[in-house]
Amino acid sequence: MKSIFLKAGREKSLLRKHPWIFSGAIDRVEGNPSSGETVAVFSHRKEFLARGAWSPLSQIRVRAWSFQEEQKIDSAFFRSRLQSAIHCRQNKWDSASDSNYACRLVYAENDGLPGLIVDKYGNFIICQFLTSGSNYWKDTIINELQALLYPQGIYERSEGEHLSQEGLAVQKGRLMGEEPPDLVEIKEQGCRFLVDLKNGHKTGFYLDQRENRQLIGRYSQEAEVLNCFAYTGGFSVPALLGGAKKVINIDTSAPSLELAARNLQLNGINSRRWDNISGDAFAVLRQFRADKRKFDLIILDPPKFADSRQHLDRAARGYKDINLLAMQLLNSNGILFTFSCSGLVTRDLFQKIVAGAALDSGREVQIIGEMNQAPDHPIALNFPEGLYLKGLICRVC
Ligand code: SAH
Repeated sequence: MKSIFLKAGREKSLLRKHPWIFSGAIDRVEGNPSSGETVAVFSHRKEFLARGAWSPLSQIRVRAWSFQEEQKIDSAFFRSRLQSAIHCRQNKWDSASDSNYACRLVYAENDGLPGLIVDKYGNFIICQFLTSGSNYWKDTIINELQALLYPQGIYERSEGEHLSQEGLAVQKGRLMGEEPPDLVEIKEQGCRFLVDLKNGHKTGFYLDQRENRQLIGRYSQEAEVLNCFAYTGGFSVPALLGGAKKVINIDTSAPSLELAARNLQLNGINSRRWDNISGDAFAVLRQFRADKRKFDLIILDPPKFADSRQHLDRAARGYKDINLLAMQLLNSNGILFTFSCSGLVTRDLFQKIVAGAALDSGREVQIIGEMNQAPDHPIALNFPEGLYLKGLICRVC
């Protein structure tokens, strides 16, 4: 058996069922495991702790699959974990009762499957195998998904800067069944969206914002809306269907805005009710401030500003600047939907940054709602790293 022995005292996080073992915690390795292979993890005193995937290049050297000694890591294990993750989302499909429903089926560590993302868009499944362990079991996982879901096609998008830390290369392409068409239509609470599964951000769409998109309509009646970092119009469609007078979309990506335009047309929204501005949101908002433009509702959903601790200060400045600009552009009693998807920026820190912006703006600002990532992106309590998206709904008096 391939085994890992930890240094004395380094078993504490595993006993709390945190699934990561860092390289510095390991005393010795027996049996020369290959990348992704299953190892048994023992404490210094040779007590069993977990079974996990060996990742020889990553700082996170082992990711635990199970904390039970009798649990074999085999196709039955993956079937059972996939089944329970999918089952948790099943209610949502029933209420949506819609073949165009989109949601995340597996959210990695938070569903007990480290490094594996599985998203469903209608009848297509998009997978990401982001760690050596999930990659090692790729064929098994695909076969189990096929047997559980009978999708029209399974497509892989294993991409991102973390792959190289696992010794993995980018992998993209059809895994089973049909390749998805260039655009797939999904439906969400009366909104229709075209999604580029093969080249769009993440697996194509910001599924994590689903519940927050549904809130937008409530604040949109008769509102002049500014949707910054608009991507393909995820917030613009429900705002306009919810009664917004007008929405201005800002994004640096012209192709994303073109798809936003198609999505607005698809929902039958008159083109007089929206505008696209292709450009840097910081610069556009500064220009609007100079022009004394005002809005009733502003959405700030920027990309991740902090991907490491060294960038935290810079990220905080970015969040503060953009929030300050938005507050200055809001009419009296205007509403700000403001988000941070940087996992390193905690909810507390984010609130402090927004409070700093409020102070500098000279406006009185109240929090009237808090937002999270959608429930198909659960946060396992033994894995707080699962939380990354948080948002505030503020009234700017
Ligand atoms: N709100 C969107 C998701 C936003 S993702 C939704 O719910 O679908 C972040 C977006 O910000 C991306 O589309 C990216 O192209 C855009 N972006 C990144 N930097 C930007 C900048 N400085 N100004 C404007 N847009 C930017």
